[in-house]
Amino acid sequence: MKLNYNVEVIAFDGNLNDIKIHQFSSRSNYFVNSIIIETSKSLILFDTQDESYAELLLAYIKGLNKPLSRVIISHPHIDHYGGLPVFKDIPSYTTIEILKDFAIKNLDNKYIPKFAIEPNFEIDNLNFTVLNMVDTHCPNHLVMWIKELSCVLVADLAQYNGHLLAYDYNGFIKALETIAELSQGYTTLLSGHGKITTTATLQENINYLKECQKIYLTAINEEDFDKKLREKFPNRSRIRVSLGLLLKNKSFIYKG
Ligand SMILES: [Zn+2]
Repeated sequence: MKLNYNVEVIAFDGNLNDIKIHQFSSRSNYFVNSIIIETSKSLILFDTQDESYAELLLAYIKGLNKPLSRVIISHPHIDHYGGLPVFKDIPSYTTIEILKDFAIKNLDNKYIPKFAIEPNFEIDNLNFTVLNMVDTHCPNHLVMWIKELSCVLVADLAQYNGHLLAYDYNGFIKALETIAELSQGYTTLLSGHGKITTTATLQENINYLKECQKIYLTAINEEDFDKKLREKFPNRSRIRVSLGLLLKNKSFIYKG
């Protein structure tokens, strides 16, 4: 398999002109994004890719010539944490709730983040706020705001023009409403998949999820759900099939 990636960079003006955000996106496997926040002095990595892409990500990070101070994991899905062994010497963090979710997965230690993240912290004059969202794309999912950069990192909780995989529709919609509320005054939205977008995507995704929920409640099985979803949203990109597989109450009989 050929490993390709591309990088989008956000630059800032004025007294933030030594800061950049790099979005490293794999072009195969899960098409997942890792976000590198480059401050004046150091680097922070948000999500590690899966193991196949982690070496490429590490090489890209080394090319930036600043120390990597921490790794943050958004949620316990392998495309986001699978590269952790490659970053084993860097302190890795996630929410305390997600650490518990990792604990029941029976993974080798090298795949598990080491520390519970602080709800608020400051690195190189940037202020970070972290929240754990419940019953969304998965039982627990981390969201992070960077005040000075007006950025919200939502990983798999929102995406520009892509399908969202739901674990719980009610919880997901409620969480996105909370995130949209807390993101007032913020402009940039960074997702786990797809391109860099604006916080307006949050409301669009809430409307989309409400439609998905309606379809889910009337679909007779996963295939039907899938078909109706594609008909309703013909232009949304989708990489993975079987949207229903993550659902908490798997009322569909999967005939994959
Ligand atoms: Zn995920």
